[in-house]
Amino acid sequence: MSEKKLSVIWNVTGKCPWTCKFCCMDSGPNNCLPEMTLEEKFLIADQLGAYGCRVDLSGGEVMLNRKEHFPLIERLSANLGRDNLGISCSGAFIDEKLASHLAPLVSDVEMTMDAHPGRNFPWRPAGYHQTAAKAARALLAAGVETGLQTVTTTEHKTKGLLEELYAWICATGIDNWSILKFFPSGRGVSYPELELSDEDCREIVARIRALDAGNPSARKPKIDIHYLMPGSEKADACRCVKRSIGILPDGRVTSCFWGLDREGRFLDDKFYLGNLLEKNIGEILSGPKAHYWLGYCGGCAIGDDAAA
Ligand code: SF4
Ligand code: SF4
Repeated sequence: MSEKKLSVIWNVTGKCPWTCKFCCMDSGPNNCLPEMTLEEKFLIADQLGAYGCRVDLSGGEVMLNRKEHFPLIERLSANLGRDNLGISCSGAFIDEKLASHLAPLVSDVEMTMDAHPGRNFPWRPAGYHQTAAKAARALLAAGVETGLQTVTTTEHKTKGLLEELYAWICATGIDNWSILKFFPSGRGVSYPELELSDEDCREIVARIRALDAGNPSARKPKIDIHYLMPGSEKADACRCVKRSIGILPDGRVTSCFWGLDREGRFLDDKFYLGNLLEKNIGEILSGPKAHYWLGYCGGCAIGDDAAA
């Protein structure tokens, strides 16, 4: 059996047309995180291609600067192969034409939808879920594997909220539904009341499993409960470097995006692996800082002084 490729989440930009209240990256139209030039991004795309990995392009909003990021998608797809490139975005700017251009280049596109697009959901900007809904339909029509992720919060304890969202997902023909837990990071630090207790998480996971079990359709969404969500059946072992790394808009490589504060500073130097503008990915991943994580056997290292 072939070994699973390293998963690289590349946040190409901090800029985003939206201003979600609890954005974990503190993204928005005025985000001023330094960003690599297009030439530098191409250089990184070539390094990643030579190394061999799976890349998910994310942000901010990748599609905000389509003039640069579409050629970047083409370059990454040529380097890595279509099956090893995914996009995580909000759905903004994706219409039928853009969806058909993306179809031969990416394996899948994932957007966020926390509630039925017809429901008033105060934690996302007006029009956010409707935009994702429109993009999802365009992507499905173009034959792109389409996923939605839901960031669960205490709001999701509301009776019927998840159930009506699941009904919409099934009726629309969405391929994958990922369930994540809200962590108060980025702008989310201002809303600690949104974080679910472990017991609430388990109840929500049970509700989602019941929806899936009660749906006899052969064409139903594949459900993926994130490994850090209590109730998930997945192993909760830390994935830093062993399974995944992150790249920041300025080329810094992190073992985990949760290891940064709102201003993009590392909570601890152990989360900083190096900068791709100074060293190539192979050097960074064979360096002593990466080795620390390869030998790390503990649980989640965020806020864990013992792991330092
Ligand atoms: S959560 Fe996503 S869509 Fe919302 S501001 Fe942040 S990056 Fe943009
Ligand atoms: S440090 Fe925590 S959040 Fe980060 S990869 Fe490890 S387990 Fe996951």
